[in-house]
Amino acid sequence: MKSTFKTIEHSCDLCIIGGGLSGTIAALSAARHGLKVVLIQDRPVLGGNCSSEIRMWVRGASGYWNRETGILAEFEEENIYRNPTLAPTLWDSVLFGKVKENKNITLLLNTSCLDAECSDNIITSVTAWQLTTYSWHKVTAKYFADCSGDSVLAPLSGAKYRIGREGNAEFNETIGPEIADSKTMGMSILLQARETDHPVKFIPPEWANVYETDDDIDIKANNVKYSETRDHKIGTSGGNLWWIELGGDTEAISNTEETRDELLKLALGIWDHIKNREDHGYDNWELEWVGFLPGKRESVRYIGEYILTQNDIDNEGKFDDVIAYGGWPMDDHNPKGFKANAIDDKASVCYPSPSPYGIPYRCLYSKNIKNLFFAGRNISATHAAMSSTRVMGTCSLLGQAMGTAASICSKNNLKPEDLKAEYITILQNTLMDDGIFIPFTTRKISNLTKKAKINLSDNEKDVLFNGIERPRFENDEGNKIVLNKGDSIEFSYDEETFVDTLRIQFDLDYERLSVSPNKKMRVFAQKLHYGLDFVPMKVANTIVKDFEVYADGELIYKNDNNYYSLVKINIKKDIKNIKVKFNNTWGAKKINIFACDFI
Ligand SMILES: Cc1cc2nc3c(=O)[nH]c(=O)nc-3n(C[C@H](O)[C@H](O)[C@H](O)COP(=O)(O)OP(=O)(O)OC[C@H]3O[C@@H](n4cnc5c(N)ncnc54)[C@H](O)[C@@H]3O)c2cc1C
Repeated sequence: MKSTFKTIEHSCDLCIIGGGLSGTIAALSAARHGLKVVLIQDRPVLGGNCSSEIRMWVRGASGYWNRETGILAEFEEENIYRNPTLAPTLWDSVLFGKVKENKNITLLLNTSCLDAECSDNIITSVTAWQLTTYSWHKVTAKYFADCSGDSVLAPLSGAKYRIGREGNAEFNETIGPEIADSKTMGMSILLQARETDHPVKFIPPEWANVYETDDDIDIKANNVKYSETRDHKIGTSGGNLWWIELGGDTEAISNTEETRDELLKLALGIWDHIKNREDHGYDNWELEWVGFLPGKRESVRYIGEYILTQNDIDNEGKFDDVIAYGGWPMDDHNPKGFKANAIDDKASVCYPSPSPYGIPYRCLYSKNIKNLFFAGRNISATHAAMSSTRVMGTCSLLGQAMGTAASICSKNNLKPEDLKAEYITILQNTLMDDGIFIPFTTRKISNLTKKAKINLSDNEKDVLFNGIERPRFENDEGNKIVLNKGDSIEFSYDEETFVDTLRIQFDLDYERLSVSPNKKMRVFAQKLHYGLDFVPMKVANTIVKDFEVYADGELIYKNDNNYYSLVKINIKKDIKNIKVKFNNTWGAKKINIFACDFI
């Protein structure tokens, strides 16, 4: 492209387009496994739909014992520790800091990928425009990953893709339309409100829509006045007005600006209704933020080696190459969004899905472009399956799996499609070592660990080394051992033995009763509406705060302010004895350990 402005050239192993949770986590996982990564993000902040620009809550598989872990948990734990009042821009700073501290990642913010060069179905480079520096960035890479949500590399590379809703017959699904169409789930902008101790007026702009009565907002069904769907109760633990949604019945990308204008009229009209029309009891609430960037639910999905369907989800996704899981219901929004207003034409219908269900690796790379990965809401799935896989907890797992897969491909000089059989086992084990739960399989415990003499009972060792590092059902206490403060776990060998890394999985209090009394924040540490009842977050009281590691009697590591649930400590020594002493927690009386071993 001929231009007056300079072009900066980059060369890397993996170039990722899109810094939502999937792209950010993919970048970190690949970089932590040694790849040089360029991450291109067209916004000033990372996080995509969960960033301070959009403020959507991270949600994932139902059942607290299915909470998504890995890098997502690390982000959240950092956020709770550093940002207990959950300021949205500080959440951005958590993601920014994690990426910036990794020297293998070049982060290009405010940079839009606009072009790609390809040869023989391989992407050789992409070009992006950086708004703040008036410069072009050309990135040459071995592998590319599209985490843009909108799949910008599909039109640029010729990668096969799908848009819209499949007709039910195509994949023998039941929740889609009879006849395929190009409609999608719509976009939304959110509002953030705060409770004060005094009345606050709201004067709407002239151009805001007017909704005089509750009946103007919601359907009346069987004389039950208001459906739950358009509930407009605001509160710390209340809903987020996700139903302020439009644009699914128009072309998903090119109409974004017009849709944003309509969403603003709608959102401010709803706030005017809440404050000024009928009596909703929100006199003391003020609107402190309105999103100007619509959050997108759905646009273009790639076609990979496998297309995940509703039936796969219904059947729990028992694939050999499971590398992530979902468990959010198939939450199929009506393309009409807010315009859907009849009892047989609802804004959204949720179809239950098993939780967890497995998602195969084959959904994460292109069927026809040989070095193209993807992760996030654009993976290879039907519209019906995507209505579940799209939530950000699931997208985070997909990002971590994809970034790790790219690192294994790069080390073994494989194309994404060649990562099969024993490489899938390596991918699964690496992910599990990095704190990811993978359904239908358990983490392998190293022989090095197993051959040590350990100062625990046989029963305790069975629990500690069962490869399951979380509860598996409500009130499951089975997979952790419980010690007293000051107790140690000691590994001994008869001869000097090389130990690389000590790995400990603490208890992150899956149910999170110790983290927040506010219901929404127990699911994930982000808030939207901020009532006077909001209580700052606390580090899970079960995480071990203070612990020490001794090698052959010598103190080699001490942390008296740990707030991460998964820790890995470099040993890299020949030793005969390692002792891990657990001194204190963030409040719990006992020390809970899900795993403690060598990798
Ligand atoms: C209103 C709304 C409500 C939702 N509710 C929930 C919920 O409650 N919980 C939940 O978990 N999920 C929810 N979702 C779904 C979820 O937010 C998305 O599916 C998820 O964000 C997808 O993650 P992603 O990383 O694939 O994409 P995104 O979060 O969309 O991130 C993609 C990033 O790529 C950037 N990008 C795009 N094009 C380019 C380009 N050409 N160059 C560089 N960068 C580019 C974008 O700016 C964006 O920051 C909701 C979505 C919406 C819109």
